Amino acid sequence: LRPRSGASAAMASHDTTLQRRGLMFILSSPSGAGKTTIARMLLDRDGHIGMSVSVTTRPMRPGEVNGKDYHFVTDAEFDQMIEEDDFYEWAHVFDHRYGTPKGKIRNALKEGKDFLFDIDWQGTQQLYQKDQQDVVRVFILPPSLGELHNRLRGRGTDSEEVISGRMDRARAEISHWDGYDYVVINDDVEECYTKVREILDAERMKRQRQTGLIGFVRGLMSPDGEPQS
Ligand code: 5GP
Repeated sequence: LRPRSGASAAMASHDTTLQRRGLMFILSSPSGAGKTTIARMLLDRDGHIGMSVSVTTRPMRPGEVNGKDYHFVTDAEFDQMIEEDDFYEWAHVFDHRYGTPKGKIRNALKEGKDFLFDIDWQGTQQLYQKDQQDVVRVFILPPSLGELHNRLRGRGTDSEEVISGRMDRARAEISHWDGYDYVVINDDVEECYTKVREILDAERMKRQRQTGLIGFVRGLMSPDGEPQS
């Protein structure tokens, strides 16, 4: 190590946020485990991640906004998007179809923008097969099935029959826990958010993602210790 010179002291004031590749941050969970809340918190509190808005054939729920929660389309429109190869992935979930549109994601990743995906295990598998380098898979579990049932009931938007269908579906979804890189139990929403946030922050620092590192490290090793872009 060389002693700290005037040049290296000046360097301390440089903005050392390096150029990096964006990542595809997938959050999956059985419905009611809190994934939507965690996703909203991430979007609200982190300025570098944007939501990948899915396309669906299911009807809009009260309070949902077309283009924000989903792009709501007809079956025929969904078929056409499949035909035109507009999807990264798509799957049947419950009684409807859901898909991730390609949109501008690929170019934005190159520019360092991160995307959040609220998709199920089938979509996760498909995205991972297509792009292992950029995908980070996080699974959120409820603390118990009883608690999940309470949360689904508490929403007050669905009938008992729908809730019971969702509970069956939740068990099936949970069985895919081993297809994820990280698993977080949502006992307390703030704690769960903090853990998810830590995963995101750590993944952003992965060496392979930090495309600006080579120039930076070369600079550190050069005689004057100045970063190079
Ligand atoms: P909901 O109808 O409650 O909004 O979503 C039902 C399920 O569909 C959730 O588990 C959600 O993660 C999943 N989902 C939403 N968008 C997509 C998508 O684009 N692709 C896949 N594979 N699943 C999705």
